[in-house]
Amino acid sequence: MDRILISSCLMGQPVRYDGVGKLVVHSHLTAWKAEGRLIAFCPEIAGGFAVPRLPAEIEPNATAQDVLAGKARILDSDGTDVSAGFIAGAKATLSTAKKAGCSHAILTDGSPSCGSGFVYSGRFDGVRRSGLGVTAAVLAQNGIRIWNQGEISALANTLSLK
Ligand code: SF4
Repeated sequence: MDRILISSCLMGQPVRYDGVGKLVVHSHLTAWKAEGRLIAFCPEIAGGFAVPRLPAEIEPNATAQDVLAGKARILDSDGTDVSAGFIAGAKATLSTAKKAGCSHAILTDGSPSCGSGFVYSGRFDGVRRSGLGVTAAVLAQNGIRIWNQGEISALANTLSLK
């Protein structure tokens, strides 16, 4: 059976930096959950972060790929370098996805871990920019197709679930 990795917060788990979830209610998710297809996972919890925690962003003008290559950092709002935990969480997510046989992932957009269409500027000013989070980048580099929470119907149309 094809399985789908999904950001834990989209399943309502209160794991975000601010201590809440980001529940998405969708008929496909309900069906996939009942079928046991969904593997809920939070990269930042896997990377050792607490709830709540300070918000963190990829440095201005840098990409997730830069962070993974050691050329840029992820900093929290106090300026602490939290890159190592984010990278560890990304690797743990890939390991979990591979073990579960996930070829698709539904990830929370905007996150420095899970973002796929956008991340924030790195200046904690609420400004968006195009780009991936580090977990999304690692999964995509390893052949796992990434979708955001607004693309669940598109994913359903693409899947030929077995
Ligand atoms: Fe949600 Fe991903 Fe952030 Fe965890 S790391 S709280 S799953 S967006």
